[in-house]
Amino acid sequence: MMLSVSVAQRRLCCGRMRKAVYRHLCCEVQHRCAPAPSAHDEQEDTRRPSSRKIGTERTAQMTSKSARVLAALRAPHFLASGVFGSFVNRASNPECPRILYLSALPLAQAMNNHNIKVINFSNQDAVTYPIVKLIGTIEYESSVSCQNQSDKNVYLTLNNKSDILITTNVVDGYFKFIVELQNGKNQISVRYCCETIGITLEYFSIKTEHAVIPLYVICEGHDGYFQAPPWENNNIESACKRITLCSKLLQCVTAEKLYEHNLGRKTFNLETDCQVFRSELDYLEARNMNQVELWETIGREIMKSDIGSENKKYLAFLSCTVYWGENYTEAMKTHEDLLQITQGYVALGGGGLALFGTACLYTWPESFEEIVLRFEDTTIVDRTQFLDDSCYRGTVGACFSTTLGSVLHELCHTFDLGHTEDGIMARGFDNIYKVFTRSHSGGQENVSKSLRDKIEFKEEFESDSLLERLQTENKKKEFTVIRKFEEIDDTFLTRSCAVLLCYHRWFNQTTPRQCSVLSFDNTNNLIKSTSGIRVVEIRSQDVELVVQSWTFEGRVLKFSFQIPQDVFISLCNGNYIIFVEDTIGCILKEEFRV
Ligand SMILES: [Zn+2]
Ligand SMILES: [Zn+2]
Repeated sequence: MMLSVSVAQRRLCCGRMRKAVYRHLCCEVQHRCAPAPSAHDEQEDTRRPSSRKIGTERTAQMTSKSARVLAALRAPHFLASGVFGSFVNRASNPECPRILYLSALPLAQAMNNHNIKVINFSNQDAVTYPIVKLIGTIEYESSVSCQNQSDKNVYLTLNNKSDILITTNVVDGYFKFIVELQNGKNQISVRYCCETIGITLEYFSIKTEHAVIPLYVICEGHDGYFQAPPWENNNIESACKRITLCSKLLQCVTAEKLYEHNLGRKTFNLETDCQVFRSELDYLEARNMNQVELWETIGREIMKSDIGSENKKYLAFLSCTVYWGENYTEAMKTHEDLLQITQGYVALGGGGLALFGTACLYTWPESFEEIVLRFEDTTIVDRTQFLDDSCYRGTVGACFSTTLGSVLHELCHTFDLGHTEDGIMARGFDNIYKVFTRSHSGGQENVSKSLRDKIEFKEEFESDSLLERLQTENKKKEFTVIRKFEEIDDTFLTRSCAVLLCYHRWFNQTTPRQCSVLSFDNTNNLIKSTSGIRVVEIRSQDVELVVQSWTFEGRVLKFSFQIPQDVFISLCNGNYIIFVEDTIGCILKEEFRV
């Protein structure tokens, strides 16, 4: 069984990997360009993905801001709050825009006072996942012919429904929406001032052999209610709604991140909405297990059950996580201190399972309408009641962002990604909220940065390696990220990670059952694949930090690749892993010594 592999084969991530990663920075390995392919090992790739963009009662106790946020969602004056990216009822906005679509729209050009543009989608684009992010620009904020220039909001209407999305004022000429598409064609109109444009986006759900199944794991003897303030729903149904919705958000993030690398909007497929998985493990026993024990026990159980399959990855959340706030003292400063008073905490991914605790599940949205509000919730977490898992930012919204980001990080481990020096596969997932919001508050980031530095200082660095780390930090990062837009959301995948996902079996609808022949000749440092090499990575053996990588994405297939000798010379002595992925998603992973 996939999940019962030995510890050596499995990647373990502490969930907050730091220590070992920086130890490897001492290697100062350069990322080098791959040499040009030689004539004999080339062949035209017929499998390359097409360029089409598919791919790709509580009110009595409502005292906190969270409660007010929820109350605001039900209140009719919601529009006036100027919250961005959320549905409001048409009744609260008597000025409903008449919708004009690009497809039948000579009129729109005539009214082109503001030059509204959606920049990350084209008309008639199609996607295989339901929640999309729309980014656009307004070229002229006002024009002399405008009748009403006071309203600087951008409005979005989906399928001519009475629900309207609103953004805050345009920031630097940009606007952003998240939209939940219906199956089939979706008519979207965007209005700013006197101008409205239309765009049609198609969403079709697909069935794939390789898919992700979200699970809510309820241990024996546990009632399935996750820890939450009294004004939050926290029953099984609520847990499943939150998990399903956020799984869809992660589909969207992954697709956008690949798209930013010009790799199409590819993402993983969700087999179902979140399912309840009843574990035979006693919940009190589970609470006394460490992360690895939980991962192994739950993983084994899933694989032995009716839903167990090698072709599925399981994104599972444990209902019985408990934070003992009554044991909190002011002396507890670090994340690790707080974990000492948390039971059933887990954030671990690899093999076929990514497993998480639910101490912060209450900070996640239950419905689409709540998403942005939840990210923007600045209520301070009461540490005498709830786990503060916010990367030292201390707010409910930051807890949502950090925990959602860590789910993406761990899920990516199940897709065979290693760690990187930067980005989502390092610690670059705390600001995942920026992917969805436009309220990029500088203050929060500054706090985060200084405290993050503090975290690193507090970690178990030996003083000499810390010194090396500081020296290394001043050097410019060697890899570059290709960004299609000026969307700075602090959340990215490095090139080899993105290409790895692009050719991964969980990101492609049809992959042959037969694996190609993949080999690594350690003596000659020669890699061979019968279907064409796509990604080569050298990773450290302990935490699988990518220290060197090459990607081959051209139409010309590369059947063999020799790792340059000087790369080996530049590596520190130690154990490494050679990781190779080919065109049809076959993977080779072998340890070697330098
Ligand atoms: Zn990790
Ligand atoms: Zn106007």
